[in-house]
Amino acid sequence: MIKDDCIFCKIAKGDIPSATIYETGDFKCILDVAPANKGHALIITKEHYDNIFQLDAETAAKIFSFATVAAKAIKEETGCEGMNVLQNNGAVAGQTVNHFHLHLVPRNTGDGVNMSWAPKETVAEEQQTLAKAIKSRI
Ligand code: 5GP
Ligand code: ZN
Repeated sequence: MIKDDCIFCKIAKGDIPSATIYETGDFKCILDVAPANKGHALIITKEHYDNIFQLDAETAAKIFSFATVAAKAIKEETGCEGMNVLQNNGAVAGQTVNHFHLHLVPRNTGDGVNMSWAPKETVAEEQQTLAKAIKSRI
């Protein structure tokens, strides 16, 4: 499915231009127009899925396989030391474009990119209970 008012659907179709690194029948890897670092890329699905909650497991597996290829090429070209692969779902999680995409963010020492959070305390027993409760929904 393609969504008419979706910017990434338009990019996926080629109706809006993008700096395209690589594409297959299922995915397109483009450079982010407002990158966190040089080489920051997005992998977008050619079909429209709002987020991970809509995505099927088979497409998800394929997108990560695609990501390994793109990540290695970006690392070679930019000479980055590391890379964050991240993916936001829902406005509360920082998603601004409601079309599923993976971010590949090249990282270098002292680059000032901040993806940190303050870790919360846990209680082992509560973690076990929570893990079981989540498992029961699979
Ligand atoms: P999100 O916040 O939804 O995880 O990430 C959306 C990303 O898409 C942002 O990093 C933003 O810079 C990028 N972006 C938004 N519009 C465009 C566009 O028209 N072209 C490209 N190449 N990137 C875009
Ligand atoms: Zn879309």
